[in-house]
Amino acid sequence: MQLDSSFSKVFSLEGKIGLITGGGSGIGFDIAKCMIQAGAKIVITGRREDPLKEAVNELGANAHYVVNDVTDLTATEGLVEKIETTIGPVDILVNNAGINMKKPALEVTNDDFNRIIQTNLTSVFALTRAVASKMMNRKSGSIIMISSMAAYYGIDRVVAYAASKSGVEGMVKVLASEFSPHNIRVNAIAPGFIETNMMKTAMNSDPDRMNRALRRTPMGHFGKPSDIGWAAVFLSSESSAYITGASLPVDGGNSIGF
Ligand code: NDP
Repeated sequence: MQLDSSFSKVFSLEGKIGLITGGGSGIGFDIAKCMIQAGAKIVITGRREDPLKEAVNELGANAHYVVNDVTDLTATEGLVEKIETTIGPVDILVNNAGINMKKPALEVTNDDFNRIIQTNLTSVFALTRAVASKMMNRKSGSIIMISSMAAYYGIDRVVAYAASKSGVEGMVKVLASEFSPHNIRVNAIAPGFIETNMMKTAMNSDPDRMNRALRRTPMGHFGKPSDIGWAAVFLSSESSAYITGASLPVDGGNSIGF
């Protein structure tokens, strides 16, 4: 067998355009950074302009931003149209924007519940539908949903969050099946404990909680946002060309250690 000297090309995102929701900070920012390093052009979104501006300054010339609240469903199709006409066709969509809320189930109001579902699930479907309809014309695309271990395990006080992420996991399988004939792959990444603002808020800087989380993590340390970034590069590159409908845990072994 001849060894292929173009090994790095299978991980390359050269010539691709990626749209990452919630890309101004945390995991989304590192997904953008990793994808740019792999050769892609990136558009990040978020609700606030200042962090997006700062992020794009740091990410360089291949990064762009659009201010957009994913829960504004009347703006979804316009967002995709704007990106495709000003920057180019979206080859990769990463549904990353998300919110959490820790409360005992009986204290969660209907409004609380709906807010989490709207942000983490309904908006994910709306944007995916808008982007996938364009990808279908081009017969090519990769869609990645950022899920969570909360979809798999009963973690106390995250009832709405767990419901939203379980919904995402179900959606991945249906969409992967429906979109496969159009050469569009749909996968999830299920992060474990990743050091971001969301994790800090969830742990409330409480050393006991941090230690409990670490004890549940066989690798013995929390993940970095770039750990998710490189997994996203893999799932959007040619190196994962035959993977669809999968959920990839990136969790230091949480999913075997619970
Ligand atoms: P952060 O809170 O650090 O970042 C969330 C990002 O989403 C921010 O950039 C925020 O920007 C954006 N965002 C939130 N709401 C909206 C909205 N309505 N419209 C547009 N953008 C929005 O969280 P993480 O980086 O930790 O989380 C990213 C994803 O990873 C989430 O889906 C989360 O559920 C998932 N995850 C994280 C884990 C962790 O341990 N950190 C574990 C498992 C899953 P802005 O506020 O400016 O809009």
